[in-house]
Amino acid sequence: MDGTQMTQHQLAIVPEGMIADMLTREAAFDAVEKVFAAMAAGDAYNFPVVREAIGHEDALYGFKGGFDRAGGVLGLKAGGYWPHNLARRGLINHQSTVFLFDPDSGRVTAMVGGNLLTALRTAAASSVSLRHLARKDAKVLGMIGAGHQAKFQLRAALETHPFEKVIGWNYHPEMLPGLAAVAEEMGVQFEAVELPGMVEADAIITITSSFAPTLLGEHVSPGTHIACMGTDTIGKQEVGTDLISKATVFADEVAQSISIGEAQHAIKEGILAEGDIPQLGSVINGTHAGRSSEDEITLFDGTGVGLQDLAVAASIVEVAVASGQASMVPI
Ligand code: NAD
Repeated sequence: MDGTQMTQHQLAIVPEGMIADMLTREAAFDAVEKVFAAMAAGDAYNFPVVREAIGHEDALYGFKGGFDRAGGVLGLKAGGYWPHNLARRGLINHQSTVFLFDPDSGRVTAMVGGNLLTALRTAAASSVSLRHLARKDAKVLGMIGAGHQAKFQLRAALETHPFEKVIGWNYHPEMLPGLAAVAEEMGVQFEAVELPGMVEADAIITITSSFAPTLLGEHVSPGTHIACMGTDTIGKQEVGTDLISKATVFADEVAQSISIGEAQHAIKEGILAEGDIPQLGSVINGTHAGRSSEDEITLFDGTGVGLQDLAVAASIVEVAVASGQASMVPI
């Protein structure tokens, strides 16, 4: 066969509107748990993130990519944030698309809508951290944040662990009823609290776009697990560095945690070192023991890695192709 010979090849397209029917929360959880483990084992790695202000529509656009050798998944998520979409076009502000490639030949294999996928993979990440780091007897879940992602976070957390009560605080308290509705829909009591009331929580998820700390050490009881999910850019911050200094910090990926994640501030202040942060995947693999006592405060710095997107997209494509619902385009 000469090097230019073409073999039949098809591109699978799974548009945004189909994702809700193709992806269960369990499938998202499994895909994210597996890829975190592969990252910690050195079988999968993320490429440096590109994020650019394009000077048009105030948009931030970029790429998150990676290669999971263990899962045979290569690709990237392209997209970003268009702040005027909702007002000007009635579209959601976060827009992204995932592209998958055959790691053997480099040919494109799939194009998958990335908007809902992003919310589900982000919620899966905090849930994986709850499963592996929260106390098994945790009863009260604290939520800081009540925006778009918060509802997905809450649903996934309540499906992962049998919490008996949810307490919530938000910078914009008028948004809390949206979160309360999710808790009620899942049959769990919800109570709005002030920040000091967070001491009642056994686990806390922070998912805001804040640039200044809100959750401080004095708001958190010994033994709590905190999943910090909102900080994914230089300058953002959700928790005080006093809280970080009381906690054992785990990350999805250490390089992102110290540069764009919640740990960036503690690193700058010199109270946390890169070598102090294990990957959550090492707990999943069993190479790190995880929580060491009932009193330890554990903190997951979930910055959001490209491999999460690719793992979840690959699982969607598998279902969509097997069920004949993907559009197959010969290329
Ligand atoms: P959203 O705009 O729907 O909600 C924003 C939330 O932040 C609301 O609860 C709002 O009240 C709160 N907030 C706004 N200004 C604040 C301030 N000054 N102080 C404290 N809270 C403030 O956004 P979203 O889609 O829910 O995203 C929330 C955050 O999660 C964003 O920072 C986003 O970039 C991040 N995110 C992270 C990942 C990841 O993988 N880690 C994935 C998606 C989104």
